[in-house]
Amino acid sequence: ATAQQLAAAPAFSYPTSHEQIAQPQDTPNFIDNAFVASQASTWIDLHDPATNNLVTRVPQSTDAELTAAVDSAEKAFSTWRHTSFLHRQQIMFKYTALIRENWDRLAASITLEQGKTLADAKGDVLRGLQVAEAACSIPEQMKGEVLEVAKDMETRTYREPLGVVAAICPFNFPAMIPLWSIPVATMAGNTLVIKPSERDPGATMILAELADKAGFPPGVINIIHGAAKTVDFILDEPRIKAISFVGSNQAGEYIFARGSANGKRVQANLGAKNHAAILPDCNKNHALNAIAGAAFGAAGQRCMALSTLVMIGETKEWLPELADRARALNVNGGFEEGADLGPVISPQAKARIEDVIASAEKEGATILLDGRGVKPAKYPNGNWVGPTIITNVQPHMRCYTEEIFGPVLVCLNVSTLDEAISLINANEYGNGTAVFTRSGPTATKFQKEIEAGQVGVNVPIPVPLSVFSFTGNKKSIAGGGASTFYGKPGLQFYTQIKTVTSLWRSEDATSQKSDTIMPT
Ligand code: NAD
Repeated sequence: ATAQQLAAAPAFSYPTSHEQIAQPQDTPNFIDNAFVASQASTWIDLHDPATNNLVTRVPQSTDAELTAAVDSAEKAFSTWRHTSFLHRQQIMFKYTALIRENWDRLAASITLEQGKTLADAKGDVLRGLQVAEAACSIPEQMKGEVLEVAKDMETRTYREPLGVVAAICPFNFPAMIPLWSIPVATMAGNTLVIKPSERDPGATMILAELADKAGFPPGVINIIHGAAKTVDFILDEPRIKAISFVGSNQAGEYIFARGSANGKRVQANLGAKNHAAILPDCNKNHALNAIAGAAFGAAGQRCMALSTLVMIGETKEWLPELADRARALNVNGGFEEGADLGPVISPQAKARIEDVIASAEKEGATILLDGRGVKPAKYPNGNWVGPTIITNVQPHMRCYTEEIFGPVLVCLNVSTLDEAISLINANEYGNGTAVFTRSGPTATKFQKEIEAGQVGVNVPIPVPLSVFSFTGNKKSIAGGGASTFYGKPGLQFYTQIKTVTSLWRSEDATSQKSDTIMPT
């Protein structure tokens, strides 16, 4: 960005309600702590999923803009890495306070662009805020080790930042997932270029505005926009040292391979097909409420949604009660009082989900509850799919093999816990799972034998809090899960360990012979 462009940067206010979008503004880039109007020739229309009205146009940022963002981050790194920890910590304290103050505004932006209910959007913000709050303690975790290894000799370790790092984000958690990267990367001394999802960048734009207010110097956090072209720029730009990706397998496996081949660190959280196993001895009401909530909440657009139900033994008799709970959920615009689930992200997503439901019907499964055609009266043009339950599903069916990412629960019957464990372990995804039982030994067996990265025992969406780490497994994480987001492993990802061994002889050396053997 030229100085002139920066001077001309528009005061940018992101819309947070259906009403504010009568005159949509284009989304700018955020470079050097300024909202900079893009000179793009290609724009991506962003529609409110509840109405399909235009909210904003997101630029395919130009090559010059992408480069300007990395220039800015590179320049900022040279000073940011040397700022004191106390200074960075003070900024992070202010940042967390500002996120809390702007909680409703962030949530409203999410509801408008992503569609989830306002209460759920507040949870999206909170789970990200918690990562920022935990990051305030990073100075404690950055401390190295020291050992006197011999007389006058010691070895010390230092944790050093990597440099410019990048985050590529998905549409489904517009605040939480950028906040898996912003606090950890910057507190460790890195500078960051973020590419939010082109389908809902609003929350990230507000987070950038708050970062400026909190005192992050220009260039520490930059935002660029676009689709695959921007991703390819990030993958090939040699000054970007590490990439944090969250999204689908299709994009993520490509990003992991090309980014790694280019010598970058890449962490990539991918798709899922999460199973709940329900046993006859469970607390029935708790289990049915939890399963319906975790299958249909956020319209099923969570990577930890419980999208597959494995009914053990007689629990299959409970399906009508489960369907009653699903039917009772209020499908409505996310701003409406009492809404339980909002629309899905796009007309294309709606068509794809309906196509999967139709395929299940063709393949011989039963549509116990059909959400096709559900439409709240006030929002006739939204991307609606109501809660859908598909029963008598077999593992070869498309509705079982594909991640649906919509409000659709597929149900399979087995006779024993062992069969349930084998079925779940045979699935190629391994993000999360849950078991519902009152038996300690049953839960323990499940927890030990199951090959999923995050296990809930009577807990439907066991996403670990910010002092732990998000630990998917199998095809749900690239690179065999060697690198995970936030918590201690998150800090590990964003830092390089340097080991220094020093000798400070207390007496002058007298020998004049050089040693040629490996020092022991
Ligand atoms: P997506 O892969 O379509 O998009 C994610 C990002 O990748 C976006 O920024 C997008 O611009 C970019 N992208 C998309 N296609 C690309 C391509 N062909 N080449 C290069 N870049 C590309 O994912 P989404 O639809 O936004 O998000 C939903 C997916 O994310 C689901 O599969 C869900 O399970 C997964 N997810 C996983 C986790 C997790 O922690 N495991 C968390 C949230 C979402």
